[in-house]
Amino acid sequence: MTASYKPVAFLDLKAQYQSIKAEIDAAVARVLENCHFVLGEEVAAFEREFAHYCGATECIALNSGTSALHLALLAAGVKPGDEVITVPFTFVATVAAILYAGARPVLIDIEPRTFNMNPAAIEAAITPRTKAIIPVHLYGQTADMYPIVEVARRHGLVVIEDAAQAHGAKYRGRSAGSLGDIGCFSFYPTKNLGAYGEGGAITTSNPEYAKKIRMLRDWGQDSKYHHVLRGFNYRMEGLQGAILRVKLRHLERWIEARRTVARKYNELLSDSGLQLPQEMPWARHIYHQYTVRTRDRDALQAGLQSEGIQTAIHYAVPAHLQPAYADLGYQEGSFRESEAAAKQVLSLPIHPELSADAVETVCGAVKRVAFGRVKTLV
Ligand SMILES: *Cc1c(COP(=O)(O)O)cnc(C)c1O
Repeated sequence: MTASYKPVAFLDLKAQYQSIKAEIDAAVARVLENCHFVLGEEVAAFEREFAHYCGATECIALNSGTSALHLALLAAGVKPGDEVITVPFTFVATVAAILYAGARPVLIDIEPRTFNMNPAAIEAAITPRTKAIIPVHLYGQTADMYPIVEVARRHGLVVIEDAAQAHGAKYRGRSAGSLGDIGCFSFYPTKNLGAYGEGGAITTSNPEYAKKIRMLRDWGQDSKYHHVLRGFNYRMEGLQGAILRVKLRHLERWIEARRTVARKYNELLSDSGLQLPQEMPWARHIYHQYTVRTRDRDALQAGLQSEGIQTAIHYAVPAHLQPAYADLGYQEGSFRESEAAAKQVLSLPIHPELSADAVETVCGAVKRVAFGRVKTLV
């Protein structure tokens, strides 16, 4: 007997576009007509709407999540020679942005169940040069923010959330982007709220930070061609603003669809022997990724691949072991939990348009591979 497999793609951006095509096309046409290609009224409206969505008073739209982290650090007053605490188990942009600001990334380990910053590790990493802490809300679940903010307040540190994977995630009822002093978002196309190109934003309820960030994103101007700060070209494009406004209106529905997929995975994989994502009692996890954990990660990924099921690894090499960041002063063994996670995590397909059928297909394949019966089927 030859098994016939139904392939499952990791992502399906086309399906999402098809589902909102009329609205997107109208929004794009509006920008092409009004020719406000950079910033402009669509971007300004998106800023108001996204600030409101996140429970912050201000939003500054930018050209990427990396730019958001960079400007957040500059607004926080981070200077060359300062130290900023973050985690190695993240996308490298978190660490890179600290270096852009001229500061030294001081890394601390994660908690193995949530893959997020371990608040208990912060205090020992603080020195007189520490200026800020960047918790990363990995996979769409926030870090445990109360103890992080508490230790930051005691030491006078600025808390910058890397919320690039956490649009709409909640912690004790409050939204990512309003939990620290400054929130940083990415609208890279594969994020839960994705532009049709690059994009990012900062949220804050601190008017001083907002004012400085607004100037820094547009060459440090306080008025046309009058440059009071050494700024950057980090502006959001008009097209992205218009597109993001449309997509923001669907985001809650898409989050619920992702949560439905996650519940189904949880149910069907409960006896798989894999460690499943754990939604903390205080969280609304938005499942940017549905990431399982197993010692046989590479075999599981290869087995799924052979059945046409795409998976991904976020992230196979923690930042401190990347060749580009080898000079940060860490080595193999520096962060036990991050290094173990890097060897064991596997993200399964998840997106709002993923059908219940496809979830069943994935789970059937996961169990065949996990139970070692894959050979009898091929
Ligand atoms: C995507 C991402 C970033 C960077 O965002 P860009 O828009 O790609 O610059 C930063 N941090 C994390 C955790 C991310 O997932």
